[in-house]
Amino acid sequence: MSNLADVTGRLRKMPAETADPVSYALAVGDERVPLNDLIGKPIRFDYEGVIRCINCDRTTKKSFNQGFCYPCFRKLAACDSCIMSPEKCHYHLGTCREPEWGETHCMIEHVVYLANSSGLKVGITRGSQVPTRWIDQGAVDAIPMLRVATRHLSGLVEVACKAHVADRTNWRAMLKGDVPELDLVQERQRILSLITDDIAALREEHGQGAIREVDEQGLDLTYPVHIWPAKIKTHNLDKTPEVEGVLEGIKGQYLILDTGVINIRKFTGYEVRFRVMGA
Ligand SMILES: [Zn+2]
Repeated sequence: MSNLADVTGRLRKMPAETADPVSYALAVGDERVPLNDLIGKPIRFDYEGVIRCINCDRTTKKSFNQGFCYPCFRKLAACDSCIMSPEKCHYHLGTCREPEWGETHCMIEHVVYLANSSGLKVGITRGSQVPTRWIDQGAVDAIPMLRVATRHLSGLVEVACKAHVADRTNWRAMLKGDVPELDLVQERQRILSLITDDIAALREEHGQGAIREVDEQGLDLTYPVHIWPAKIKTHNLDKTPEVEGVLEGIKGQYLILDTGVINIRKFTGYEVRFRVMGA
């Protein structure tokens, strides 16, 4: 049995499970350190300057697209600009960087959802990424709105929604915990009525069955946060490779320490030593 109070390895996005509150682990190398129990305790990260690509293991001076080396960033479909802007998916043009990856990740059903992370936002994800995607965004509430045939189509629907609703999370507001309550069932009705014409046009072009309205229930999420930060200061391992502080909460992909917040996802691929101090 390894000692989870002192582990060294490559950081990954924090795995999280739906529970009340959400249950987090820190992924360091092959270890998974349960984090919720560490709230109230001093923890420390030491980064010694090595980043290893999460795709090919090569060391890289700089991390691209949260954990990739430059060659992988240029080569992988997962790093293409259409991942950030799904309406630009170009699989149908025969130019996908990795058509096989596209078939399993993009040419499948996607969910267009509404979430309340720092206010109302629209988002899209593969069905299998619900509710992981919502937790990663720190949403306190989220609800599926439409199920659509492909990633491309989800992007086109999202573009139509963007005329009426944000598609970004204000992470500072998200981390302050002062998120207004919203009735997402009502918001879903409201947004759907605003995009009726857009949906009709997209169905005309892509087929009636390609976009389905859904009546699925929403999901309320609570996070293990004991103390909300009054002022948000961010830790950056590139600038300050030693980060220490008392863990006061976890939300989205952020650890809230009494010394500042750290976005773990941003440092995917970084080789770190993680310690629970005084353990
Ligand atoms: Zn690589």
